[in-house]
Amino acid sequence: MIPTYLLNLLKIARGRRDLRPRLAMYFVTTQCNLNCAYCEDFGAHRNPGQTTSPGQENAKHILRVLRSGVARLWLTGGEPLLVPYLPELLDDAREKLRFREITLITNGTLLSQRLEILSRLDRLVISLDSSDPLTLTAVNISQPCAEAVIAAVRQAAALQTRHGFRLMVNAVLTPETLPGMDSLLEFCARQNILLSFSPQAFNNWPRYELLTAPEYRAFLEKALTAKTRGAPILDSRAYLRTLLEQTPYDCYPTLTPRILPDGWLVYPCLPMEKAGGEQGGRAINLLDVDTWQQAWDAAQKRYGEPPSACHSCFQQCYAEPSLMQSRPLELLAERLFYSRRVDLTTYAPG
Ligand code: SF4
Ligand code: SF4
Repeated sequence: MIPTYLLNLLKIARGRRDLRPRLAMYFVTTQCNLNCAYCEDFGAHRNPGQTTSPGQENAKHILRVLRSGVARLWLTGGEPLLVPYLPELLDDAREKLRFREITLITNGTLLSQRLEILSRLDRLVISLDSSDPLTLTAVNISQPCAEAVIAAVRQAAALQTRHGFRLMVNAVLTPETLPGMDSLLEFCARQNILLSFSPQAFNNWPRYELLTAPEYRAFLEKALTAKTRGAPILDSRAYLRTLLEQTPYDCYPTLTPRILPDGWLVYPCLPMEKAGGEQGGRAINLLDVDTWQQAWDAAQKRYGEPPSACHSCFQQCYAEPSLMQSRPLELLAERLFYSRRVDLTTYAPG
């Protein structure tokens, strides 16, 4: 069987944009217990207006449909550790559905009470924008909460070998968090954690104050150099350069489809769904189908192929897989020279 990566390269060569997914990202819930200043979609203050989790049996059906077409599963939120049946869902994903890799993204606040989930994961991604609790107060995380998350990151880092998962930290670059990024990188290097970062998005575009700040460019240049020297940075050099130069790139959003808690498949990407035009939206509900192919056919029938020209929103979670899929030489260079501590099948955990 031809691997998905090669099939997608062939599709690109033929000018197609509807690439096969490399992973599926399921929002287990939209409920959250934090109110990060930069969060545009979720947060505790939005909880009352958000859909809650769909119930255990519906969630398991959604995963069954996903597994019929996708091998790698990412679970995110909101805050997924708020979902009481998360362990059962993880067990189903691993033992019955046999997803090849399972990754969980969490804000870390509840992790110390839910350590039983660690052995069910291949990767754990904790959102942490600074190793300094005071800096985190600038993005609206209280100091006690920030201290608890940092402690949870240390605790999880120490458990990686025993439970057989890889820990990553995902940091959002904002004007407030930027000054502490060097320290965060040192913190991650000391604890054997991979660090990825992405610029704060504002209305689907990197925040203006960042783009115009010399400190932002200086940090990206430093990160490129640090990665070359072996720092545990997950972002590819291609992505860091794209951010630095703000160069447009070909985006292939169907590589990483998103599914909302109640089963709606977002097509082709969240920014287009939010824009609400004719290019994308909530295409079909996975609770109404039995296979991924049925869902995908319905989505394509409704919205067609993803657009060939897009404003390139630079969102890491779409940009990084697009770059690595469409630039095989860059991928090869990453694997040969920079991937000693970086797992490039991971893509970006933003
Ligand atoms: S933890 Fe995540 S989902 Fe919750 S408010 Fe912060 S960025 Fe948003
Ligand atoms: S650049 Fe952004 S808006 Fe455009 S297709 Fe990619 S993810 Fe969607």
